[in-house]
Amino acid sequence: MIVFSRSTIFALSSGRPPAAIAVVRLSGSRAGAALEKLIGRIPEPRKAKLARVRDPANGETIDEALALWFPAPHSETGEDVAELQLHGGQAVIGAVLDALGKIEGCRLAEPGEFTRRAFENGRLDLTGVEGLADLIAAETPAQRRQAFRQLKGLIGDRAEAWRRRLIEALALVEARIDFSDEADVPEDLIGPAMDAARQLRDEIAAALADKGRGERLRDGLVVAIAGPPNAGKSTLFNRLARREAAIVSPHAGTTRDVIEVHLDLAGYPVTLLDTAGIRDSGDPVEQEGVRRARTRASEADLVLWVTDASARGAARDQTNEQFPGSEVWLIENKADLADQICGAPSRQKGEHRFISSISAATGQNIDLLIAALSAFAKEYFASTDSAIVTRARHRRAFEETVGALDRALEQAAKSGAHEELIAEELRAAANALGRLTGRVDVEDILDVIFRDFCIGK
Ligand code: GDP
Repeated sequence: MIVFSRSTIFALSSGRPPAAIAVVRLSGSRAGAALEKLIGRIPEPRKAKLARVRDPANGETIDEALALWFPAPHSETGEDVAELQLHGGQAVIGAVLDALGKIEGCRLAEPGEFTRRAFENGRLDLTGVEGLADLIAAETPAQRRQAFRQLKGLIGDRAEAWRRRLIEALALVEARIDFSDEADVPEDLIGPAMDAARQLRDEIAAALADKGRGERLRDGLVVAIAGPPNAGKSTLFNRLARREAAIVSPHAGTTRDVIEVHLDLAGYPVTLLDTAGIRDSGDPVEQEGVRRARTRASEADLVLWVTDASARGAARDQTNEQFPGSEVWLIENKADLADQICGAPSRQKGEHRFISSISAATGQNIDLLIAALSAFAKEYFASTDSAIVTRARHRRAFEETVGALDRALEQAAKSGAHEELIAEELRAAANALGRLTGRVDVEDILDVIFRDFCIGK
C-alpha cells in the first residue's frame, strides 16, 4: 500500500562526481510538483524531455537536463518518480540538491530508502532487494549473472510458489479440523496434504544440497598462499595480483598479517590471501600474525603451499595436517635458482595434489598456474547456474522449512496423529518461507480455505 503522507525523497543516484552525467532521482507524492518547480512542467510519462533546470528561489538557470517522469505505480519504487540527467559537475549537483531541499515535503533520501520503498510497495521482495544489492556489488561476470537471476525472482518466485503450495496443503488440514462434522468435507484430507508436504520437502532439500556454491559465488573462492618464510609467497601474491599489495622483503617474517585481493579468474571471483610466514616464532606480534594466517588459510578452499625449490626441505609434508579441509597444491618456487626445472604444472590424479615448479620472480610458469587456478574456479562454480541459495539467511529459512515439514510428516505418520500439530508445523514452514521473501500474511490461509472449499455456506 502506498502511503501518500510521507515525504518525497531525492538523492544523487549516480556515482561520485565529477562525471559526464549525474542522475538525480525523486520519489514520492510531491515528485511531480517538485519537478514542475524546477523545469516548469511534467514531461509525458517515460519519455525523455530536454529541459532548462531553474532554481525556483530566483529563476536562475542551473543546467540543461533530460527529465523523465514515471507516474505511480509503474515506477522503480511504486511511487511517483522523477529523474533528472544533469551534467555531472559538483556545483550543478549541489545547486539542484539545494533547490530540491527547499521544496516543502522533500528531503534527502536515507541510504537504501528508494529500494526500501520499492519493497514496501511490493515492487521487490526481500530476495530481490538482496539481488539488487549483489548486482551493484558484483565484481565478476558470474557474480553479476547470479545477482541478476536473484533480482529477477529466481529464489523469491520459487519460495513464493512453494509457500502457496504449502498454504494449500495447510488449508486441507485446517478444513479437516474446522469442518470435520460437515457432510460435504471429504474424509481424507490429511493424506493429500501430506503427499504435497513430502514433495515440497524433497524439492527444498534438493535446493539446499548445493554445497554452498551460491553463497561462495557471492564471497569468492578463497585461495591462500602459505608456506615457510622467504619461500616467495609475497612475490607470488604480487605477481598474481599484478600490483604491489604486499611488502616483498628478503628478511624472514615481514608479512605479519593476512593481506587479500579480489581477483577475477575466468569470470569467477577469487579472494587471494597472502599469509604471514607460517613458522613458530618467539615474537608475540609475529605469533599473532602466524595464528591469523593459520586460521584464515585453514578455511581456504585451496592452499598454494609455496616452498623454495633451491632449498628443498621438510615443509611440504606438514600440509596435510594443517589444511585438512582444503585442497593443497604444492608450488616449488625459485625454479630459476634450482638445478633442474620441472616442466609445466601437472595435477596428480587422485591425490588432490598439484605440483608445480615456478619462479615468482621471473614469471616462469605463472601463466600456467593462473590457467590451472582459473580451471579450478570454473570447475568449483560449475553448478552455480542452478544454485538458488546465495546467503546464509536463505539457507536458514529453507532449513527451518524442511525441519517443520519433517516434523509435520512425522506427526502424520503416527497413529492417532494430531491434526492441530500437523497444521502448526505446516504453518511454521510457510512462515519461514514468508519471512524469506518478506511476505508473511496469515490472511491468505483463510482466503484459500474459503475459496477452494466453498464451505462457508
Ligand atoms: P615470503 O616470506 O614467502 O613472502 O617471501 P618473499 O616473497 O618476501 O620473498 C623472499 C625473497 O625471495 C625475496 O628477496 C624475493 O625477491 C625472493 N624471491 C621470491 N621469489 C623468487 C624467485 O622465484 N626466484 C628468486 N631468485 N628469488 C625469489
